[in-house]
Amino acid sequence: MAEIVLDGVTKRFPDGTTAVRDLDLTIADREFIILVGPSGCGKSTTLNMIAGLEDISDGDLLIDGERVNDRAPRERDIAMVFQSYALYPHMTVRENIGFPLRLARVDRAEAASKIEEVAHILGIEQFLDRRPAHLSGGQRQRVAMGRAIVRSPKAFLMDEPLSNLDAKLRVQMRTMISRLQNQLGTTTVYVTHDQTEAMTLGDRIVLMLRGVVQQVGTPEELYDH
Ligand code: ADP
Ligand code: ADP
Repeated sequence: MAEIVLDGVTKRFPDGTTAVRDLDLTIADREFIILVGPSGCGKSTTLNMIAGLEDISDGDLLIDGERVNDRAPRERDIAMVFQSYALYPHMTVRENIGFPLRLARVDRAEAASKIEEVAHILGIEQFLDRRPAHLSGGQRQRVAMGRAIVRSPKAFLMDEPLSNLDAKLRVQMRTMISRLQNQLGTTTVYVTHDQTEAMTLGDRIVLMLRGVVQQVGTPEELYDH
């Protein structure tokens, strides 16, 4: 559970590019926020700053009221899934999903039940003993999501997670992501340049253009007129 506040957040890269300019946004606990906009508008940079993968040049990032600008990614309790992802090829699906639990020394029984719960939500419980090479692309992406959220992070960040999948699979995955959000209730920030995805998944949509927020609203507010 987490409220995420971006307060005047700006990102300037060393070459002078201002990727994000004076971004103000309050993401409520359990909200599913979509960042949408053309390529290069600053979506990924925004996610990376929330995750701690990029420094913030100006402004403040608050998670549950605490300023976390200088906190390392590991200390932010945030999970991230990208369009390409690396599963451990020598591990089964169960071991892949359970890996973060093993690192955190979560006890065996608790880990086993958590893995089952996540696999069930993702519809991959029948593949738990397979290795990634024996899974389809959509199944692998679900395993990557399972591994990312298995420790119930405060927030779940996704950067175009469906863009490598075909149209049919994307629709299935959209349904699955909605279910994941409803059952786990994590605060989610989801990046896409696909308007359909934005409309079907988001509680609210943030439309960005050249590093600046143009509009923020529910799908109805943004697209129904
Ligand atoms: P999006 O995710 O919306 O496609 P990005 O956040 O990746 O946009 O990029 C926003 C802007 O910042 C773009 O103009 C991009 O070229 C620039 N940019 C991204 N990363 C760097 C970097 N490491 N150095 C300089 N400019 C960058
Ligand atoms: P999806 O419908 O998720 O896209 P595919 O059409 O790629 O899945 O695969 C259909 C079925 O075949 C799935 O149940 C998948 O687990 C299985 N499968 C795909 N590739 C392999 C493989 N290399 N070895 C074993 N089973 C596989």
